[in-house]
Amino acid sequence: MSAQRTLKRPTSCAGIGLHSGRKVTLSLKPAAAGSGIRFRRSDLGGLEVPAAVNHVGAINYATGLMRDAVRVDTVEHLLAALVSLGIDNVIVELNSPEVPIMDGSAAPFIYLIHEAGVKSLPAPRRYLKIVRPIAISRGDKRIALYPSDHFKVTYSISYDHPLLRHQSRTLRITEETFVEEVAPARTFTFLKDVEMLRQNGLALGGSLENAIVLGETGVLNNALRFEDEFVRHKILDAVGDLALVGYPVIGHLVAHRAGHALHTEFVAKILEETHAWRLVEAPFEAPVLPLATPVKTVVPRLAT
Ligand SMILES: [Zn+2]
Repeated sequence: MSAQRTLKRPTSCAGIGLHSGRKVTLSLKPAAAGSGIRFRRSDLGGLEVPAAVNHVGAINYATGLMRDAVRVDTVEHLLAALVSLGIDNVIVELNSPEVPIMDGSAAPFIYLIHEAGVKSLPAPRRYLKIVRPIAISRGDKRIALYPSDHFKVTYSISYDHPLLRHQSRTLRITEETFVEEVAPARTFTFLKDVEMLRQNGLALGGSLENAIVLGETGVLNNALRFEDEFVRHKILDAVGDLALVGYPVIGHLVAHRAGHALHTEFVAKILEETHAWRLVEAPFEAPVLPLATPVKTVVPRLAT
């Protein structure tokens, strides 16, 4: 049995919102078994919104949650870090409507969670195990989940840009692979889009400190963290958006040219397709041995 987990102690950090440009303090606080991941706005008297797909709000180049008057934007990188480190229950407290972007990746959140420490709770964790394929497509954008014994992600992207015409990667997501291979990958944007984003009140906190910016032929930042940092970041986004299912998923997620809108639409579809999954308490069910089959034992003959 895998036990649910929370943090050992509270921790916090400060930063700015990528889209709002506003300063924000983020605190992560331990929470009881079964309470899930909840965002709390301290500047709104402690009103909360759970990290669940039925509370998805605005999708503007980032995933937002909304319940009544409570809004929390750009939740995906933090959610990816929390679920990948097996944090089932936590209160995420913010004093502003947007999660800080930090360096544009999930690595600072990994550091924060490690600093707080992780604690097991006396309750079993339930997983959503995919038993039949689920898929949606919108034009050339596709996303699907297939049965698998592990949580794996295959992501592919293609853009009309010399640096990322086509990138594709498959990763089995474990705590270790997420920390090493996915978490450090930063968000990216195109220089030609920056002006349009700003005119729409987005990316106001964006800079080369928190995003890879692609010019006509290369990146404006000094260096990439991985040769295929872009597709790795898309895996990060997908893992974070998939957290809105509310359970860790056991299955193979395959996405092509998707984004937050399609990811979250897909999460809602998963929860509707109840025949395509089961809730299980252990990630791997023990193989059932057919009792009627006699076990043949081969006794090695000793040389005489
Ligand atoms: Zn992202």
